[in-house]
Amino acid sequence: MPVAILITLAVLVLALKLFAFRAIPEIRVYFAYKRKRLITYPETHETAAVDVSAGQAAVGAFLAEPTLRLKECSRWPEREDCGQECLSQIEVGPANCLVWNIVSKWYEEKKCAFCQKPIGALHHLDHAPALLGPDFKTAEWNQFRPEQLPAVFSKYQPVCWNCHVAETFRRLHPELVVDRPFEPRRTM
Ligand SMILES: [Zn+2]
Repeated sequence: MPVAILITLAVLVLALKLFAFRAIPEIRVYFAYKRKRLITYPETHETAAVDVSAGQAAVGAFLAEPTLRLKECSRWPEREDCGQECLSQIEVGPANCLVWNIVSKWYEEKKCAFCQKPIGALHHLDHAPALLGPDFKTAEWNQFRPEQLPAVFSKYQPVCWNCHVAETFRRLHPELVVDRPFEPRRTM
């Protein structure tokens, strides 16, 4: 093989390695910032749901450091001219403000209000656990807007998926449900 081709190949391999060295953190940053987060709005101390611009953060990570800017906020468009001070909360605890982690942590130590079985942390492949409202109706947690969740968690009780399905059926079709009184098992 001619020397010129060998040198070209060596340069290409080196360039690819350098690119991968920068691209892997970029991809990590992209997926880390892609998900919805909850922050406390600095002026009013209310909760807002925000999306960081994952693409911009990833390009920043490729060039030097991730650059955080908001892409969406539940307080927009009314507060679109804000200084995005809430980004400091995301920089300090990027995982702590993820909606998924906040919800998972809330359910982690809780038991179902109906069957008393522990619910545990969230899993992506499982059915979403639910909540029992003050009106005694159940709803899945992801039916609420993310920014509503802290207030919802203070008023609602945790309910497992099975009890949510059973209670929904009972509510929608009371004529088809027969409540049998508890009968102790005979031992003789
Ligand atoms: Zn249950």
